[in-house]
Amino acid sequence: MTAQGQPARSTTAADVPRRNWAGNVRYAARAFHRPTSVDELRRLVAGSTRIRAVGSGHSFNRFGDTDGDLVTLAGLPPVVDLDRERGQVTVTGAMRYGDLARHLHTQGYALANLASLPHISVAGAVATATHGSGQTHGNLASAVAGLELVTADGDLLRVDRDTDAFAGMVVGLGALGLVTRVTLDVVPTFELRQYVRLDLDREALNEALGSAYSVSVFTDFRSPRLREVWRKQLADQPPPPADWLGTTAADAPRHPVLGMPAENCTPQLGEPGPWHERLPHFKLGFTPSSGDELQSEYHVPRTAAADALAALDDVAHLIAPVLLVSELRTVAADELWLSPNHQRDSFVLHFTWVADTAAVLPVVAEVEERLAPFAPRPHWGKVFVTDPEELAARYPRYADFAALLRHLDPTGTFRTELLDRYLPR
Ligand SMILES: Cc1cc2nc3c(=O)[nH]c(=O)nc-3n(C[C@H](O)[C@H](O)[C@H](O)COP(=O)(O)OP(=O)(O)OC[C@H]3O[C@@H](n4cnc5c(N)ncnc54)[C@H](O)[C@@H]3O)c2cc1C
Repeated sequence: MTAQGQPARSTTAADVPRRNWAGNVRYAARAFHRPTSVDELRRLVAGSTRIRAVGSGHSFNRFGDTDGDLVTLAGLPPVVDLDRERGQVTVTGAMRYGDLARHLHTQGYALANLASLPHISVAGAVATATHGSGQTHGNLASAVAGLELVTADGDLLRVDRDTDAFAGMVVGLGALGLVTRVTLDVVPTFELRQYVRLDLDREALNEALGSAYSVSVFTDFRSPRLREVWRKQLADQPPPPADWLGTTAADAPRHPVLGMPAENCTPQLGEPGPWHERLPHFKLGFTPSSGDELQSEYHVPRTAAADALAALDDVAHLIAPVLLVSELRTVAADELWLSPNHQRDSFVLHFTWVADTAAVLPVVAEVEERLAPFAPRPHWGKVFVTDPEELAARYPRYADFAALLRHLDPTGTFRTELLDRYLPR
C-alpha cells in the first residue's frame, strides 16, 4: 500500500531490507518496492504521498526511514558507462562502489578515493557525503559531476555541474529525489601499498596524517598514544623508514578492532596492489550480514586536529567502555552545500561504538559538547544528537538547501520525521 492507503503500483518486494545493516533501525515503511524500470519507479513516485529510497542500508540513523513507501533501486537495469574523453563514468545509483571499482580498474581507471567499506551504494554514500581519508582528496560526493533523479511529481531530472544549485543537490540526504544515475570523475588506475605502524605519539598526528595518499589513525581512548597508523601510499613511494615518527612496523596483518581476525581486511605489509584493494579497509568479497556496532563521526577544521582530540581527554573514561575503535582521518574541502567538508579542510573523528543505543547516546552527547568549540559537523549517515539550530549554524548554505528542498519537494513526498526535525518545513 502507498502512504495514502491506496494499492501500491509496483510489486511489493520481499527482498527489500526491512532494517539497516546495524539493526538499530527497523524501517517503518508501510510498503516495500523493487521496481525493475525507471518508468515503473516514476509511476510509483507519482502515485505516492511519502516515499524514500534505501541503498545498501549502511546508515545508522532514521533520515531515510519513511512511514510511506520504501524502494530499492537495485532492481533497475545496471549501467556502467565510461566516457574516456571526459574522464567520467555514469552508473546506476544502486551500484556498489566495490563493483564499480572492479570494473573501472579493468578499463584502466580509478576513483580518487573510497570509503573503508566497498559494499555501500553510490547514491546512498553520496547522499550522506561518505568519505575516505587523504588531505588532498575530497569526500566521495565531491567526485559527482552529474545526477539523474526522479523528483516528487515523478519527472526525471538530469543535472550537472553547470546546473544552478547543483552544489546543493549532490549531498541531498535522499530528500530531493530518488537518484537513478550518478556521473563520477575518474582518474587513471594506480597502485598502492598499505603499511600498518604501531604506537604513534600524538605530537606526530598531523605529520602522520599528511604522510601518504590516504592515512587512517586508529585509537581506543585507553591511552593518550595512538594505537595504529594505516598508511596507504603510492606503490612507487619508498616504504616508511624503520623508525618512522617513532613508531614500529606491524609484523602481521591487523584488523582495526583489536582482537578481530585480519583475514577480511585488505592486504597490508607493503604488498602492492590496485587502489580498490587497498583504499577500503575491508575486502569486497567479505560481506558481513549485520553489524554488531553503531557509529558516529564529526568533521572539524583540520587546523584544530590536536585541540579537538585533546578536548576529549576529559571524557576518555566515558568513551572507552562503549567504544570498539576510533578512527582519525582527513578530508579536503569542497563547495557542496551540505557537505561536512564545505569550505573546510577537515580532520574527522570517527567512533565505532558497541551496539547499545542506550549506553552510547549519553556518551555521544558528551563528545558533542566537548567538540562544540570546533563547530563539529556530524556525518549525515551516523548517530548524532546535535541541536538542529546549532547544526544549521555550522553550514553557511543551510538556508539555501532548505529553500531548494521546498522548491523541489513542495508537498513533502521525500520528507521523514528526522528530516523534518533538522529541516523544518
Ligand atoms: C561498516 C561500515 C563502514 C562505514 N565506513 C564509512 C567510511 O569509511 N566513511 C564514511 O564516510 N562512512 C562510512 N560508513 C557510513 C556509510 O558510508 C553511509 O552511511 C552511507 O550513506 C551508506 O550508504 P548506503 O548505500 O548503505 O545508504 P543507505 O544507508 O541505504 O541510505 C543513506 C541515505 O541515502 C538515501 N538514499 C539511498 N539511496 C538513494 C537513492 N538512490 N536516491 C536517493 N536517496 C538515496 C537514503 O534514503 C538515506 O537517506 C560506514 C558504514 C558502515 C556500516
